[in-house]
Amino acid sequence: MTEIDVPESHPRYESLLIRHRIERGVKAGIASPQGLIAHGRGEAFDYLLGEQTIQSADEAARAAGAQLLLARHPVLSVNGNVASIVPEEFIELASVTGADLEANLFNRTDERIQRIVDHLKAHGAETVKGTAADERIPGLDHERAKVDADGIYDADVVLVPLEDGDRASALAEMGKTEIVIDLNPLSRSPQAAAIPIVDNVIRAVPNITEHARALADADESELQAIVESFDPDDALEDAERTIRTES
Ligand code: ATP
Repeated sequence: MTEIDVPESHPRYESLLIRHRIERGVKAGIASPQGLIAHGRGEAFDYLLGEQTIQSADEAARAAGAQLLLARHPVLSVNGNVASIVPEEFIELASVTGADLEANLFNRTDERIQRIVDHLKAHGAETVKGTAADERIPGLDHERAKVDADGIYDADVVLVPLEDGDRASALAEMGKTEIVIDLNPLSRSPQAAAIPIVDNVIRAVPNITEHARALADADESELQAIVESFDPDDALEDAERTIRTES
């Protein structure tokens, strides 16, 4: 048996596993109760996508891997759902791409930020930013704007999975290159992203890591070519078409 007393061969294994991890995250005060609602919305889109990584999402994950390797200062933003669902996969992605991890929340409380930092450290992260909160993203109200000066504020490339639309737009307006993972291609956050990955974080995060590993020895011009040949509008259109016509 597995983490959830359901065999991996069960047709709803992955979905049940994520539900279990979020439920546990809420109980531990890592994810917020609103995270359950956000997850429900994502699950519906995943169902319509066939709970698989579609080709255009795989291409987006490859572009994301290349973009993170090219970055001067890449930062991976971690919220409660991500910390609950894929803590180890996120830490591994940070290590393969040389990125910082920063806890950053929509419903921010210092207590929950600290719990996420502790949770990631318990899973092997050495440093997790987010507690300093000594800078602000312009154009957002006080609590939602807080970031670390030497983290997201300084980053040139930010991975923001499951981000809300306002913050995604505000980060893009700061001139940051944004990579967004979101199952809803119609949501504002993937639409604000330079690289939207329409896929479940449980598949997308290890997939970006795998691509980044495969590209580790590529030279800068090759990485640049991968990023430049990626078209965010095409990726979003392809995901929407898949949802509307293939489910
Ligand atoms: P926006 O403000 O960007 O329009 P929204 O109001 O749809 O977004 P929320 O409900 O705050 O966004 O956030 C949930 C988003 O996260 C949804 O778009 C949902 O599809 C996505 N989501 C939820 N769970 C996952 C997951 N496991 N993997 C990828 N995306 C997910």
